[in-house]
This record gives sequence, structure tokens and C-alpha cells, in this order.
Amino acid sequence: MEKIIFATGNQDKMREIREIMSDVAAGILSMKEAGVEADIVEDGSTFEENALIKASAVAGNLQGKGVVVLADDSGLEVDALGGEPGIYSARYMGEDTPYEAKNREILRRLEGVPKEGRSARFVCAIAAVFPDGQSCVARETIEGYIGWEPAGENGFGYDPIFYVDEYGCSTAQLLPEVKNRLSHRGKALRAMREILMQKGEGYENINCK
Ligand code: IMP
Repeated sequence: MEKIIFATGNQDKMREIREIMSDVAAGILSMKEAGVEADIVEDGSTFEENALIKASAVAGNLQGKGVVVLADDSGLEVDALGGEPGIYSARYMGEDTPYEAKNREILRRLEGVPKEGRSARFVCAIAAVFPDGQSCVARETIEGYIGWEPAGENGFGYDPIFYVDEYGCSTAQLLPEVKNRLSHRGKALRAMREILMQKGEGYENINCK
């Protein structure tokens, strides 16, 4: 299959995609490694739209190069907060506000809410734009709940307040390899891997969401 360009500057995401996809692509490059600079305005109203906006913008810079462009968008949805912070997860309370403060604010907004009302999920959408112009989005989640206090040192962002029933702890308390196996991003990358394999085998009607 062709080369993959992943529209991210995040090295952790690059490592994860290389681990999962290295056998389905001739090479996997970050945007920077591919020499693409793009100032992308993520103004979609869903994770899927934002992932596709990013992938399409980068693909526009690489037309005719025969590469597959992937991009992701992810975030935390808290049901009791009407799905907030959702697509604004990185920007919630301001981009530069430390996650310790963002997490404390979410815990404050859920004060007095019993466990049944604290359901939440991490969502990840990964979009692909193929050299023939076709596009595709894989969306996956990890279901959990917002705990009563932050816990754990692993992970990043909202991990210390996001708890999973299966392990009875926050995703910041899980070993990285365990989190990658369960996580929205790991699942979405594996779903996209299946799509890339179908496409590589020449299927016209690939299984796109
Ligand atoms: P982006 O998709 O890199 O823009 O990430 C959006 C934001 O969602 C991140 O900055 C985090 O706040 C949050 N987020 C996404 N995935 C995770 C996760 O696995 N753990 C904790 N926070 C996450």
C-alpha cells in the first residue's frame, strides 16, 4: 500500500500509529516529516467533521503524491454536562489552562451527582483521504465515568478523572499498554487499519462510517 501521512505533530500519536499500522503501509510519516505546513481551522461540529477537515487540508497540499492522509480528533464527552467538553476538550476553559484546573472544574460541576449520572466517554475519530479522493472516517469510544477525585500519574489531559469499571481505576492509573488496548484511539486506529487493508486489496465499497 501507499505511504501514510498522519496529520499530527504529536510524537506519542506517531508512535502509536506506527505500532498499529506499520505492516499495512510502505511508510508512515508525520506532517512535518512530509514537509507539510498547514494552518488548519477546526471548525466542524463533530469529531468526525474535524478529523476530515484536517485530513482534507493536508491531502490538498499533497495532491498527486499518491499518499493516504490520516488525521484524528478526540475528546471527552460527559453526559451530565450535555456532552461537554466534547469537541472543545483541548480548548475547555482556555487552551493554556492546566488540566489540573479543567479536571477540578468538571468534578465541581458534578458535585452531588451519583455514579449513575456520571457516565462519560473518550471519543476518537480518525479520517482517511485516499489518493483517489475517496474519504472515510472511523469513530470509536471507551465508555467510563467521571470519578470523585483525580488519581494516577500516567496518561495526559482528562485521564486522572476518567474511570473505567473493568479496572475500577482511572485511565491515568493504567499502564500505557493496557490503556492503548482499551482506548478510543487504539480502537479507532485498529478500525482504520481494517479499512486500509480493504482499500489495499482493491475493494470499491470499503466499509466507511
Ligand atoms: P486532540 O484530538 O489531540 O485535539 O485532543 C483533544 C483533547 O481531548 C486533548 O487535549 C485532551 O484534552 C482530550 N483527550 C483526548 N484523548 C484523551 C485521552 O486519551 N486521555 C485524556 N484526555 C484525552
